[in-house]
Amino acid sequence: MRLLLVEDDPLLGDGLAAGLTQVGYCVEWIREGQQALKAIRSDKFELIVLDLGLPGVDGMDILKKIRSQKDNTPILILTARDVLQDRIDGLDNGADDYLTKPFDLSELAARLRAIHRRRTGDATPQQHYGNITLNPASRSVTQEGQPVELTHHEFSILEILMNHNGRIATKEHLEESLYGWESGAESNTIEVHIHHLRKKLGKRTIHTVRGVGYQLPSPPE
Ligand code: CA
Repeated sequence: MRLLLVEDDPLLGDGLAAGLTQVGYCVEWIREGQQALKAIRSDKFELIVLDLGLPGVDGMDILKKIRSQKDNTPILILTARDVLQDRIDGLDNGADDYLTKPFDLSELAARLRAIHRRRTGDATPQQHYGNITLNPASRSVTQEGQPVELTHHEFSILEILMNHNGRIATKEHLEESLYGWESGAESNTIEVHIHHLRKKLGKRTIHTVRGVGYQLPSPPE
């Protein structure tokens, strides 16, 4: 899942980028307000973690700008301790949630999962498709109750396909979600991951839509 992190503090930003990558996000880290606006205009993110105190354009102004453009990407704001008005203004201006610094990475990760669940309209933490169950919190998958070992990227692809709920996930979307701005992703890497997923979960689990992308077909009754 592609996540934009906007944070100017180098230490905190570095820690967050590493930590969020570890829990499965494809993190793009931007340290300045104007650049953040540029990235939001040109790219699609599934989540935004936004610090309010930023050089260039202030985080609150970024938030207002995003929402005024009818962009409803989920946003979690990071606020300084004890600034109640920031939290109120942030929520009133369209943030989905907030965290007060300092905070624990595990709480941030849990809040991001909760935001995502609310947005997808599915309040249950586990996702099901046929006999496959996916748990985003533990990043684990079972099939008919048996654990299936997936790599980081395989898990991310399966999660995206499950979130698409039968709709097609384009190859470009999968590539962007997994690799973001990182260059050097070979053109056939998604195919390779899909191949491995089919080997682990069954040939018919993932359907190729030639020239477009992939989807999960309706599971057998
Ligand atoms: Ca800051």
